[in-house]
Amino acid sequence: MTKFKFQSGTKAYFGKDCMFDNKGDLIKLGKKAFIVTGKTSGKTSGALDDVVSIFEGVGIKYEVFDKIENNPSLENVKLGGMAAANSDADFIVGIGGGSPLDAAKAIAILATNDIEPIQLIKNDFYNRPLPIAAIPTTAGTGSEVTAASILTIPEYETKMSFVHEDVFPKVAFLDAKYTESMSRDIAVNTAVDAMSHAIEGYLNKTATLVSDMFAIEALNVFGECLINLGENNFDYETREKLLYSSMLAGLTIAQTGTTIAHGIGYSLTYFKNIPHGKANGLLLTEYLRFNNSVAKDRIQNVLNALKIKSIDDFGSYMKKLVISDIEFSEDELKKYASLAMKQKNTAKNLRSVCEEDMYEILLKSLG
Ligand code: NAP
Ligand code: FE
Repeated sequence: MTKFKFQSGTKAYFGKDCMFDNKGDLIKLGKKAFIVTGKTSGKTSGALDDVVSIFEGVGIKYEVFDKIENNPSLENVKLGGMAAANSDADFIVGIGGGSPLDAAKAIAILATNDIEPIQLIKNDFYNRPLPIAAIPTTAGTGSEVTAASILTIPEYETKMSFVHEDVFPKVAFLDAKYTESMSRDIAVNTAVDAMSHAIEGYLNKTATLVSDMFAIEALNVFGECLINLGENNFDYETREKLLYSSMLAGLTIAQTGTTIAHGIGYSLTYFKNIPHGKANGLLLTEYLRFNNSVAKDRIQNVLNALKIKSIDDFGSYMKKLVISDIEFSEDELKKYASLAMKQKNTAKNLRSVCEEDMYEILLKSLG
């Protein structure tokens, strides 16, 4: 058998009311919590009220920082880090989609380290971060079970990630009731992100036996949701399956990271404000076509798990899910191709890729 490493640092509870049923794992993290969430997601999902009621029930003090932007910037997490450092909190609770969860990881480090946020990208810090509890309110990023945080860096005109084992959330509560308030578009875009993680983790030079197992099961479960997703039918069972699939996909990329669909997609988000999952979704079909010459069997496995016959059928399905009427100039696409070449995850793509390839994928997807 081949050699591999498998790592996860998160105790994850899944199911309705799992946080109330297992609140001991939340309250044991400390005496004062710094809660990191988005402007609306904590409240709208109901998760913030639930956390607060648990804390008030046992006398845990807390401070709420609800200023996390979508695709959080270094500046945004710096503000949160300063507030956390001044709060005397001994643990962090992240509530929201990937943006607040990723920000919670950065803030957990900045609370205990007097560094500039750009140092996060090089893991340039010394003190251990505060422990983190994570409560996802979207079913997409899997950030609740990864050690990755993706931050927007205006200086480099892109998003970049840092990965550090000390920011695996200590505990995660995955309760689909917190995802019910998502609009159709947010639910679809985040679901597509999860599918993209499973696919890019599977078509990845660093894939292992274990990551493949998570990826294929994530795609199997996602495949069970395809019809409902296409018909905008988000019943509770579908919500749960999407949350489960996104967790499995998160466990996949916790081992492998992503590849070029994510790397190219960052520019669509940075320059055109296209939501993260949608950006991946717009690129996935051409990404599969590009990789097909070197990974035919693996791509067939992806399609089989999704219960889709061919890449063409996959493309037709994706066109129903994610549409964009944004126009791109040739110069813009060239710039995105060049930026994508600099992303760390580019080297993990199964087929070697050059700037011209990146441009072709962009042109065929968006031109
Ligand atoms: P998001 O940026 O966290 O949230 C998107 C929108 O959905 C926001 O407006 C948010 O409101 C809203 N929202 C969240 N939950 C809701 C709910 N239950 N009801 C109603 N509205 C809700 O979206 P995301 O796709 O989950 O996260 C994207 C970020 O995660 C990106 O920065 C991406 O790069 C990163 N990411 C991280 C990983 C990882 O491994 N760490 C993997 C993939 C992606 P608020 O603005 O009020 O929060
Ligand atoms: Fe993603």
